[in-house]
Amino acid sequence: MTYNLLILPGDGIGPEIMDATRRVLGWYSAKRGFAYEAEEDLVGGISYETHGEPATDAMMAKALAADAVLFGSVGGPQWDKLPFHLKPERGLLRLRGDLKLFANLRPALCFDALKDASTLKPEIVAGLDILIVRELTGGVYFGQPKELVTLASGEKRAVDTQIYYAHEIERIARVAFEAARLRGNKVASAEKSNVMVTGVLWRETVHRIHDAEYPDVQLIDILADNCAMQLVRAPKTLDVILTDNLFGDILSDEAAQLTGSIGMLPSASLGARTDGRLPALYEPIHGSAPDIAGKDLANPIATILSFGMCLKYSFGRTADAALLDKAVERVLAEGYRTGDIMQPGMTKLGTAGMTDAILKALDALNG
Ligand code: NAD
Repeated sequence: MTYNLLILPGDGIGPEIMDATRRVLGWYSAKRGFAYEAEEDLVGGISYETHGEPATDAMMAKALAADAVLFGSVGGPQWDKLPFHLKPERGLLRLRGDLKLFANLRPALCFDALKDASTLKPEIVAGLDILIVRELTGGVYFGQPKELVTLASGEKRAVDTQIYYAHEIERIARVAFEAARLRGNKVASAEKSNVMVTGVLWRETVHRIHDAEYPDVQLIDILADNCAMQLVRAPKTLDVILTDNLFGDILSDEAAQLTGSIGMLPSASLGARTDGRLPALYEPIHGSAPDIAGKDLANPIATILSFGMCLKYSFGRTADAALLDKAVERVLAEGYRTGDIMQPGMTKLGTAGMTDAILKALDALNG
C-alpha cells in the first residue's frame, strides 16, 4: 500500500519544520516500510504572492485526492493588511471547509523531561496524556443569526447562536470513542446541560451512541466549567475529552498550557470516513512564528508529532506512532532542547540539530 500525501509547508517557519518532517518521513520509508508518494504545493501568504490567492483550486484538488495533508503554518505581518478573503489564514480555513474536517484532535502530552516547564507543579503534570476531541464546524461560531445591530433606540445588540444538530454530535462522539479505544478507553463528555438545551441534546446523543456502539468505552459526563477546573486540579484523571466548538477552543488552549510549550503540540483535523477514505489534515498548533523564521531556531517537534498522529489516525500504524513519541521522549531525556524549551544545563540545538537527534533516537530504538 502506498500512501499519497500532500505537503503544504506554508509561511514563516513552515518550510523549516516541514523539511524536518520530510526527513522523518524518509526514515519511516527506509526503516519501517512506510511507502508513500508526496506532492507539495503552496498555501497561505506564499500562495498569495505566487497565485494571488491563499489557496488555489489546483491545490484544493490535490488535497481532496490525498490520503492525508501535512500542513506547516501560514501568516505573517506582511499580509496583515490584505482584505479578509485573501489573508493567508483563509487558505487553512478553505482546506478545513472543503475537506469537511469537523473533528479536531489535540493531544496535551507532558514529556517527563519537560515537567518543570509547566506553570503547574511537576507532580500534577508529569506523565500527562490527554486528548481533546473538539467539534470544529458547528456550534456558536457558525450558528445563524449572527449579527451586531443598532436598535431603533440607538442601543447596540449582538447575537451569536449556539446550534447543534444531532447528526453533528453523533459523528464527533464516534471520533472520540474510536480515539479512546486507541488509548485509555475513557471519554469525558463536557457540556453545559445544566443551563443550555444544546447541552441537553449533546448529553442525550452522546449516551445514545455510546450505549449502541461503544459500550466497552467508559463514559462520564462533566460540566464544561468543572472540566476546566479538573484540567488544572487533577488533569491526569482525564483521558479523552469530547466537547463542542466553543468549549473545545477554550479547554484545548488551557490543556496546551499545562505542557509548557506550543512548539511541542501536534493536532489532527478529521472528516467523515466514506468508502474507506478519511479526509485528514495534520498540523502543529503553533503559528508561523515570523520572529524566528529562517534562523534555524524553530522547534520541529510539534510538526513531527503531527506526522505521528497521521501514522496513527490515517494509517492505523500505532506502533510506528508510538516509536516516534518514544524517540522524542528519549531526545528530551538526553538533555537536548530547542530555544523555546531551553533549560539550564541542557544542550541547545537548532531545527536541523533537533531533527538529527530525533533520527538518531529512532535508529537506536528501532534496534
Ligand atoms: P505563533 O504561534 O506563530 O508564535 C507565538 C510565539 O511562539 C512566538 O514567539 C514564536 O516565536 C513562538 N513559537 C511558535 N512556534 C514555535 C516553534 N515551533 N518553535 C519555537 N518557537 C515557536 O503565534 P503568533 O505570533 O500569534 O502568530 C504569528 C503568525 O502565525 C500570524 O500571522 C498568525 O495569524 C499566524 N498563525 C497561524 C496559525 C496556523 O497556521 N495554523 C496558527 C496561529 C497563528
